[in-house]
Amino acid sequence: MAILCVGMVAWLAVHWSVSLDAADARHLLASANAENVQTLESAFDEFTQLRREIESRAASGCSQETLEYFRRYLFTLKHLRDVGLVRDRHLLCSTALGIIDKPVRSSPPDFILPQGLEVYAYRPVRVSARRPTMVIQAEIINALVDPGLIASLSRRFPIGKTWIHATGAIDEFELFGGAEPPRKMARDRRCSEIYGFCLVAAIESGMPSKPLRKAAMALLGGGTGLAVFLFGQLLLWRSRSSLVRLRRAIHNGEIAAAYQPILSVPGSRLVGFELLARWPGAPETLQGPERFIAEAESLGLIHDLTEMMIRTAVAEIGEILRGCPELRLAINISALELEDRKLEAVLSETFLARGIGCGQIVLEITERSVASPHRERINGLAERGFRIYIDDLGEGYSSLSYLHDLPLAGVKISRSFSSGLGTDSPKAELVKAMVELGRKLGLDVVVEGIESEPGHAAVLELGPIACQGFYYARPMRIEQLREWMAGDAGPTA
Ligand code: C2E
Ligand code: MG
Ligand code: MG
Repeated sequence: MAILCVGMVAWLAVHWSVSLDAADARHLLASANAENVQTLESAFDEFTQLRREIESRAASGCSQETLEYFRRYLFTLKHLRDVGLVRDRHLLCSTALGIIDKPVRSSPPDFILPQGLEVYAYRPVRVSARRPTMVIQAEIINALVDPGLIASLSRRFPIGKTWIHATGAIDEFELFGGAEPPRKMARDRRCSEIYGFCLVAAIESGMPSKPLRKAAMALLGGGTGLAVFLFGQLLLWRSRSSLVRLRRAIHNGEIAAAYQPILSVPGSRLVGFELLARWPGAPETLQGPERFIAEAESLGLIHDLTEMMIRTAVAEIGEILRGCPELRLAINISALELEDRKLEAVLSETFLARGIGCGQIVLEITERSVASPHRERINGLAERGFRIYIDDLGEGYSSLSYLHDLPLAGVKISRSFSSGLGTDSPKAELVKAMVELGRKLGLDVVVEGIESEPGHAAVLELGPIACQGFYYARPMRIEQLREWMAGDAGPTA
């Protein structure tokens, strides 16, 4: 009977797995991350309550009596440990350490949240050197978050690793050291509207294997555990099969290059092209560049894909670029490609060796790429003369301070904003402000996604500017591009 049950559950698991794909995995990741945000919010709720309750008592400074009161209060809390008093970043006393003889000044917090909450994301603490955790501080009160809560944020199935940052800030801080290398991970970012922090959760691309196996076995045990284990293996097999398909598509030339013209207006003078990947025979779950690019990123194939795209572009439009040194080619670069030097080598080997100047090559990076670990590489690429643009400016919800700090040559304003042009949407005002900011900083500005006559008319009011959009030309294969450039044909999809 038991064997029959296990068999049935395994059978069911096999059938569930048929409908579970990368999108489902991302959905699971998103809901686990949403739960994490709520969990962490409840620790911040407790801190806020603690702050309110003990502020008057705390003002009288460290005494055994105050500490006793804090200890009693701490018993009523679920998520906080060791409450202390600080002055000028010196911890003066705490419920675990008592009154400290020689207070030592601590380093500045990792970030400060809107309600004045200072956060040390994940630090070794004096009460437990072996269990780092998060410290929250506000004015004179400081408390440790239960290290178990912080560890749980990276353990909630199917999350492999978690980072935190303040909304609008660029730097992310690791929470609990899940050791997986970041490159193969699908990510989910979710922010707390109450406290203004964001959690970024990452998953291994072979997600179903380790965490699922562990979770299934630990939580369910026995027959169901076995079934879920089989289910996990099936998912793993599916992700491997998607790896094989994508790898084959990249290496067998199934993925092609399309070029979308960029023009300066008024006058519609061609200034360059954006290189965009196309996979006509993509399986249903990977249709559209956004999907298969994300999959290539999560499967560690993005380097191969970009290299293939670059080599294809050189073969197809290398002549055009060499013949017109004022034309530029814009290449989309994923954040993962800024983690090593391979990109630089591929770019030099292909373009420079064929007489195409670095200044003709635009590297489009997103706001996700401007986080500090990538900055050295971005600086290196800019020093070599490649033009670095921020693609989809404003979509990363990050503070724009990087616009000053990075050696940028330009910014692109995405369709999510430019679609407001020619309408009375507030987005139109945002586009104007972005264009103005870009110009003030001496950057090239490209407005993407102009689809219609009213959009074009609104763009003309911005003064001379570069534009890209279906209104001017769609992305085209090389043959159509040649015809379009010769003025023989209109753009094709
Ligand atoms: P992106 O870099 O922002 O590229 C512009 C996207 O907007 C392209 O979508 C383009 O076809 C589309 N577009 C341009 N004008 C219009 C318009 O007027 N209306 C509308 N509705 N769309 C317009 P596509 O080709 O689907 O690519 C989507 C994204 O996928 C790109 O956004 C880029 O982030 C990524 N991508 C595409 N090819 C590559 C690639 O080779 N490597 C990498 N890393 N990413 C790529
Ligand atoms: Mg782009
Ligand atoms: Mg864009």
